[in-house]
Amino acid sequence: MNAYINQAVESFRTLITEQLERQERIAAGAEVKDYTKMEKIVIGVCGGDGIGPIITREGERVLRSLLKEEVEAGRIEIRTIEGLTLEKRMEVGKAIPDDTLAALKACDVILKGPTTTPHGGNMESANVTMRRELDLYANVRPVNVPDQGIDWIFYRENSEGEYVLGSRGVEIPGKLAMDFKVTTDAGTRRIARAAFEYAKNNGKTNVAIVTKANIMKKTDGNFSKICHEIAEEYPGITAEDWYIDIMTANLVNEAIRSRFQVFLLPNLYGDIITDEAAQIQGGVGTAGSANVGDRYAMFEAIHGSAPRLIEQGLGEYANPSSIFKAAAMLLRHIARTEAAEKLEKALLICTESERKVIATGSAEDAKCAEFADYVMETIAKL
Ligand code: NAD
Repeated sequence: MNAYINQAVESFRTLITEQLERQERIAAGAEVKDYTKMEKIVIGVCGGDGIGPIITREGERVLRSLLKEEVEAGRIEIRTIEGLTLEKRMEVGKAIPDDTLAALKACDVILKGPTTTPHGGNMESANVTMRRELDLYANVRPVNVPDQGIDWIFYRENSEGEYVLGSRGVEIPGKLAMDFKVTTDAGTRRIARAAFEYAKNNGKTNVAIVTKANIMKKTDGNFSKICHEIAEEYPGITAEDWYIDIMTANLVNEAIRSRFQVFLLPNLYGDIITDEAAQIQGGVGTAGSANVGDRYAMFEAIHGSAPRLIEQGLGEYANPSSIFKAAAMLLRHIARTEAAEKLEKALLICTESERKVIATGSAEDAKCAEFADYVMETIAKL
């Protein structure tokens, strides 16, 4: 037993050292890209697993059509990134194969299809690896239900918490298992600043800081404290503390949910509550999400690879709305606002007001490509 304990203590020393180094790197900061001044922007598209290649194929088609002139002029390149498939990842034993990672790092922004993460084992999720490798620290997810007064945006810390050491816990077989949760001051400061900057620039007056600081006193306690320190720099914006359990209930409480505007959360709570919020909006097929860092940004659907749809032979019927929303966020991020607005408007028409063609994953409804045609025809009429 002592051997197990000694080994665990040694690996804990390594973990603390590594995490302190990571905090120093974050604190040093990185240069933020200005897309309005770049001569050329490279958009990488990687399909992923399951329905991923099907929905991203349509996402790429829409992007190519909206950016046609800039692509032809060489100001924007849309590049296919190979190798982010479960088979390839298993073959090389890496969450992201080295050559795929290098190809991703040669892009500025990425449109990504969902990737399958095997249960158990040591294979880290491709998303967790990508967020870490490209330092995509802010997960941003808007949720809108206009007729219910819901206009939410979630700022989920994307690189720390339970995820950063998720594959490096300690186990004494048959006795106990421990995982680690890490919150750094610099990591919290940058996500808090991103949320408050968004609030300031978009006329929002309330930021809900959501933790379980009454139980996780060190990590969540610090997260909340630092968010409040940042809030002091933003007069006119109220920072409120909420616990994740009651906030989960608040989202389904019609009496109060429309009062919330911006949510600021550590990684795991953000992961869970944004799926709940997406469900309120109409399901995980309807939401896109941005993973933003200072140098890179990745945009994806919030749902997974839908293996059951593939097993049932229904992959071609997948709903691409969520990857289209992600594509619209990508366009906004690279300052192609007019193209983003066109896509957003067309999506509202196609999924809310007209609904002439719907794709749901059922063979009774339209195919993914048919819905994409409908969106593109709608864009052409705007
Ligand atoms: P899932 O999101 O793949 O599926 C949940 C349900 O929603 C299923 O019934 C599925 O058929 C349906 N669905 C999802 N997307 C759809 C779409 N576009 N159109 C129609 N129906 C759709 O969730 P899961 O089954 O829990 O996860 C499957 C795999 O995806 C897992 O390996 C998981 O790790 C991975 N995953 C990846 C990401 C990502 O890459 N960002 C996110 C979540 C899950």
